[in-house]
Amino acid sequence: MIEIAEMTRALRRALSRGELAAWFQPQIDLRTNRLVAAEALCRWHHPTWGTVGPNEFIPVAEEDGTIHDIGRYMTTQAMGAMTEWGIDLSVNVSPAQLEGAGFTTWMERMIHRIRRPARHLTLEITEGRRIGDAPALVARLDRLRGLGIGIAIDDFGAGQASLTQAKRLHATELKIDRALIIDDSPEASEVVSDAVTRAHEAGIRVVAEGVETAEQLAKVTRLGCDRAQGYLLSRPIRRTEMARLVASA
Ligand code: C2E
Ligand code: CA
Ligand code: CA
Repeated sequence: MIEIAEMTRALRRALSRGELAAWFQPQIDLRTNRLVAAEALCRWHHPTWGTVGPNEFIPVAEEDGTIHDIGRYMTTQAMGAMTEWGIDLSVNVSPAQLEGAGFTTWMERMIHRIRRPARHLTLEITEGRRIGDAPALVARLDRLRGLGIGIAIDDFGAGQASLTQAKRLHATELKIDRALIIDDSPEASEVVSDAVTRAHEAGIRVVAEGVETAEQLAKVTRLGCDRAQGYLLSRPIRRTEMARLVASA
């Protein structure tokens, strides 16, 4: 176990020392089976601790404020990749990044510099409920939507987020949590199918996450999901590897 205080110190240096990297996990379109998008996922390779997973260091970064620098780094990486590869790119944004106006203002400046429409970039947000209850955060998301950037509700079905909240946040995408994909009960299928119907009525795209088996892929296709992501298709891979995959697709 790494101590929090020690991790905080190391995390501050990690960015400047080039220890953080954006990895990418492909998403396919379920109608065409083609690679159409990727999610950027943060990786930390510490010289002595080895690889530290985002589930360990993101909560620390949210606590000590490093998340602002990490978030800008990851978003810059995603925007570069989306321009270079010509596919859609998603990046995770912590609610903590939206607490001040800094990220939105920065995004407004950045989005004008890229040479592809902003709709190819999607910001993935969890805890839709917490955000839905905070008017200042909703206003910031609206400004980002106004720039054309997409908003995804991450881990849908695992937490408190509902379709009503997704609509209130003007979300463009729902990411169905892995827990609902693994669950092979008729009830789970019913929940997914209902979410798909209501999302499509509102013009919201549905992505199935954590697809690990051919059965799960067949199920989410049958239930009408638009895209799929998961180990069955590919694990998250480094940028050079993803570039090769895009070139060969
Ligand atoms: P997430 O956004 O839900 O990302 C999906 C996680 O599920 C990733 O874990 C991915 O590697 C994993 N995954 C993908 N397909 C499968 C599968 O088929 N089976 C299983 N068992 N797992 C699968 P990862 O990369 O360890 O990231 C964990 C979480 O850390 C992310 O969950 C996200 O909440 C957070 N995170 C990662 N990168 C960033 C970042 O740049 N910024 C912020 N704020 N959070 C991040
Ligand atoms: Ca995500
Ligand atoms: Ca997720």
